[in-house]
Amino acid sequence: MASTDLTLATIKRAPKVLLHEHLDGGLRPETILELAREVNYQGLPTNDPHELQQWFIVDAPGSDLVRYLEGFIHTTSVMQTRDQLERVAAESTIDLARDGVIYAEVRFAPELHLNAGLTLHEVVQAVLDGIALGTKEAANEGHRIVVRAILSAMRQASLSETIADLAVNFRDEGVCGFDIAGPEDGFRPTQHLRAFHLIQREDFHLTIHAGEAFGLPSIWEAVQFCNAERLGHGVRIVDDIHEVNGHHELGRLANYVRDRRIPLEVCPTSNVHTGAATSIATHPIDLLKRLRFRVTLNTDNRLMSGITLSSEFETCASTFGWTLADMEWLTLNAAKSTFYEFDQRLAMINNVIKPGYAALRSLKAQ
Ligand SMILES: [Zn+2]
Repeated sequence: MASTDLTLATIKRAPKVLLHEHLDGGLRPETILELAREVNYQGLPTNDPHELQQWFIVDAPGSDLVRYLEGFIHTTSVMQTRDQLERVAAESTIDLARDGVIYAEVRFAPELHLNAGLTLHEVVQAVLDGIALGTKEAANEGHRIVVRAILSAMRQASLSETIADLAVNFRDEGVCGFDIAGPEDGFRPTQHLRAFHLIQREDFHLTIHAGEAFGLPSIWEAVQFCNAERLGHGVRIVDDIHEVNGHHELGRLANYVRDRRIPLEVCPTSNVHTGAATSIATHPIDLLKRLRFRVTLNTDNRLMSGITLSSEFETCASTFGWTLADMEWLTLNAAKSTFYEFDQRLAMINNVIKPGYAALRSLKAQ
């Protein structure tokens, strides 16, 4: 444990920005049970909300990657109707707002929600309606939050061009970008070039899951062939950094990513749970932060990892000795890296984030 001035209470009050969170990885266990009863879904391992929560957390005894993927089968099984999607999106928005998140880009793959007959268009509309509902309810509780959606295409499937087109069509309704998700090994980003080129031709935004479990070639393709503006995870960039006589030397790709300020959407606990990293203490996030890559801290899947963005900051603070100043730096990194327009980003930074951290600092000084 390293020393830190950050308590969970301070972290929760600090304004936070979240760039990498999956809608189908952040459901409330009670909601899963309720929706499963409504549609008579029999696949859940238990009917007790607490037991279910424990079951989902992937580092629970006996859990493994197969179970991790099974978790998403359960969550997406209860996200197939308009009402279900709207409710899940609303609750996700409220839960993030209660955790002190002021801006989030939440992603989902529309193609995983077609089993009950919704069209891709209806799926997206239901989620956006849910986000609007949740935003209103959060405001009633005194929380100001902006949530926008990123549409993911599954990299092992063949719908990426359709999903990219769908994202562009909803750009004025609350969709802010496009992503590819799913198994990285064997499904390289360049297999979806047509989708990425469509996004670029439309002057739209693009992040790519790359460099999570799989290595440098995936990051290289995402950056140099697909023009990814951000990297989902991206932590394997550390494979291009070598310690020589006590200092770190960066290879050409690592230098390029750092020079271009390409944001890394890092999710440490998720990496530990999926086996992409062995522990938080040995996770590359702290090294990448010290080397001043454009590092951001994210949740990935709050349900499967049993975390919040606040708890993730607390975990890193106690492991690496991160301070309030470090947290502000990471939050500013995230704010600069959003798919928000430049003037909106500036307003968020100058009117919400900086005053928020200044207030916390003056509180501590008293
Ligand atoms: Zn992810």
